[in-house]
Amino acid sequence: MALDQFGRRIHYLRISLTDHCNLRCIYCMPDDMSFRPGAELLQDDEILRLVRIFTQVGFDKFRLTGGEPTVRAHIVDLVRDIAHTPGVRTLTMTSNGTLFRRLAQPLADAGLQRVNFSLDTLNPEKFRRLTRRGSLEEVWAGIQAAEAAGLTPIKVNAVVVRNDNEEDVIDLARLTLTHPWQVRFIEMMPFAGITQFQQDNNVQEIAMRDLIQAALGPLEELNGGELDGEARLYRLKNAPGTLGFISTISRPFCASCSRARLTADGWLRMCLLRELEVDLLTPMRAGVTDAELREMIVNAVWLKPWGHRLDEDAVPLNRLMSEIGG
Ligand code: SAM
Ligand code: SF4
Repeated sequence: MALDQFGRRIHYLRISLTDHCNLRCIYCMPDDMSFRPGAELLQDDEILRLVRIFTQVGFDKFRLTGGEPTVRAHIVDLVRDIAHTPGVRTLTMTSNGTLFRRLAQPLADAGLQRVNFSLDTLNPEKFRRLTRRGSLEEVWAGIQAAEAAGLTPIKVNAVVVRNDNEEDVIDLARLTLTHPWQVRFIEMMPFAGITQFQQDNNVQEIAMRDLIQAALGPLEELNGGELDGEARLYRLKNAPGTLGFISTISRPFCASCSRARLTADGWLRMCLLRELEVDLLTPMRAGVTDAELREMIVNAVWLKPWGHRLDEDAVPLNRLMSEIGG
């Protein structure tokens, strides 16, 4: 079991499979984004080796993210190999959904259990503007395919941007009246690259809840206000689905954090919003043993920072969100 210096049990690894993406969401990366060459990224055998070692130190929950994980070559084979690694109890993915129409069933057959889809608006033109190139129709078909393939319960993530898709929280929340989905609203966080935009256009949970309640009626708080992962859950009256708020800025959940992140280029990052990282790829390519890798991981876990320091204006500027894996 991997414990940090504050007694938190760290057992959930989010792996950024690639920094590449087929969209350019305005809150995530600049339009003229350039990506790393493939050789600088973790290769399949390196990922599998690390997954095996992480399970040996007590990690049992894995999420594949990016960039866009589904643009990685041989993604179905990689998912199958990770799913069959002893000690992997939960295997999920975060995706923009653009390729799921074709990939949902093969990924489910390979052992993927659930998916969180990013969807920030139900308006096709606005969707194209927010993603700078995406098709809402394609993503919607991808979500339907995932549901049909049993990758359930479906979760939908929306990052809320002031003066852009703020009002869209109402349409998105309305989805829970007709679908047994969890629709989660994310407070935009600042990283490198487009930091000023992210800081200037953040919308807080309370404002989102006010908009939803004014349009759709009262929200019932679930779980007695306890967190479900990183989200606080609510339900609209008689809704089969639920609403979640991931409020990193206004209501941080660092005390219950159980996560670590593996960046696409093989660095272990113990807090999404802190710059501290440990390079695992260079030592691996230099021939380090499994025992030495285990020790590096256990030490990094121990030193996991307590939490972010955004309230002190300490913004992590060494990476974009897409490199770390959200
Ligand atoms: N491409 C996949 C997707 O969009 O779902 C996975 C990677 S994406 C970086 C992971 C999550 O991070 C998505 O839900 C996305 O909306 C969210 N995200 C991206 N930039 C963000 C930001 N600045 N603040 C908060 N969430 C962000
Ligand atoms: Fe790509 Fe996901 Fe970032 Fe959008 S949020 S640009 S889909 S990595």
